[in-house]
Amino acid sequence: MTEKPVLTLYNTLTRQKEVFAPIDAENVRMYVCGPTVYDYAHIGNARPAIVFDVLFRLLRHVYGADHVTYVRNITDVDDKINARALRDYGDEIDAGRMSLNAAIRAVTEKTLAQYLEDTAALGCLEPTVQPRATEHVDGMVEMIGTLIAGGHAYVASGGEGREVLFDVRSMPAYGGLSKRNLDEQQAGARIAVEAHKKNPADFVLWKESDPDEPGWDATFDTPDGAVTIHGRPGWHIECSVMSEHHLGKLFDIHGGGLDLIFPHHENEIAQSCCAHGTERMANYWMHNGFLQVEGRKMSKSEGNFFTIHELMATENFGQFSWPGAVLRYAMLMTNYREPIDFSVQRLEEAATELGKYRLIAEFDEAVAPPAAFVDALCDDLNTPKAISVLRDLAAKPPVYARSDQNGGATSDSSAALDEDYSRRAQLAAALSFVGIDLRNYDANWMIASVSDARKLEIQARIDERLAFIRDKNWAEADRIRDELLSEGIQLKDGKDSETGERITTWEVKR
Ligand SMILES: [Zn+2]
Repeated sequence: MTEKPVLTLYNTLTRQKEVFAPIDAENVRMYVCGPTVYDYAHIGNARPAIVFDVLFRLLRHVYGADHVTYVRNITDVDDKINARALRDYGDEIDAGRMSLNAAIRAVTEKTLAQYLEDTAALGCLEPTVQPRATEHVDGMVEMIGTLIAGGHAYVASGGEGREVLFDVRSMPAYGGLSKRNLDEQQAGARIAVEAHKKNPADFVLWKESDPDEPGWDATFDTPDGAVTIHGRPGWHIECSVMSEHHLGKLFDIHGGGLDLIFPHHENEIAQSCCAHGTERMANYWMHNGFLQVEGRKMSKSEGNFFTIHELMATENFGQFSWPGAVLRYAMLMTNYREPIDFSVQRLEEAATELGKYRLIAEFDEAVAPPAAFVDALCDDLNTPKAISVLRDLAAKPPVYARSDQNGGATSDSSAALDEDYSRRAQLAAALSFVGIDLRNYDANWMIASVSDARKLEIQARIDERLAFIRDKNWAEADRIRDELLSEGIQLKDGKDSETGERITTWEVKR
């Protein structure tokens, strides 16, 4: 067996790039925080799904497909889910035709199916395990009990009933991932201290439920005796419990978006390390950067909020419904740690490049991606560098066989043809390595995606312009040309080879 490539990863824990050394190369273990299933996933949610899918593929390449376990949880208990169930099925519940739990189940099932459909269309492999929070409530109650017994958690009554809270002061190392100092936080805290908390940074492990909220009966042994609280878990505890269940008390990689470092990941570490008496929960913590849309923070009020489904199934963004491969490639054009500006222009650039690749690619399972491409990915998933390798491969036009008079190629040209074939097959193999299968990609999808009504409308404007040209009214003719261009339609003037008549064709500007 050949030596494994060296993989380096930026570790948020140490704030530096480190050579990746798994605990057990036979079973490399990665956990990534997954979706809260109450609504369509937005394009910002696509980023970790794609980034960690590329890492999953790379780990499988290095360690073997059967030697990597990738766990991504599904948060199916959350107040937002509850609110959505009451909004969508409130009448049914009021009329007694549906239970709250059934309504919650309906919301989570529908949303989860959509999420899996979206991520599949984006070219993501399914993680090895996708555990649901509701299937691990017993484990959460047990871990909370351990934390109480160890003096790391306590029961207190707040404005919304009783809570079990994590006592951050019980953990001297609290804040190690985010490098936050508790005293500084307190000094700078502007929010009112919730009186029932020992420390304002204490966070909820378990909270009491109202009758119209989902809940489980949990009994905790406290210094004041046993306490039973019909309630539901806080968000952080589920990841501590599910990662331990599937990956153990210490595993290799924990991933998620930059926004999860604090408080979510900090709190996961606090729970896991205090419950298990360990110093670390995972050895490498990886975080993808933020995503903006057209240069601004994505928000519903700004009008630049887009779901993955919307980008692929509607023409709301740049007048196209974008193939998943274009969204994925556009995402990979930026290093995963950098902020990304998702824009129509970026998607057009991605579509142009993929279209170019599609026209020259050869599909050959026996051909591997070039070493420079894999090396770039091994350098902390440097996808822009990997993409520059693709661009180099696609820079030369393809060489076509040119038969001589005897019907055969010369030996020189045969070598050139082989080299050219290999180059174009490497291109396809490299794209497939990062989850873009060009065999299913239509290089002309942009024109194909223009509706028939729109095509008729464009043709009418072209006819109008030709009439102006015949009248030598160049100003009006140019105006129509420029108007169409501003709508993303580029005109091309030419002559009919037989009649010599002027003809105008169009294409979608990329
Ligand atoms: Zn998590």
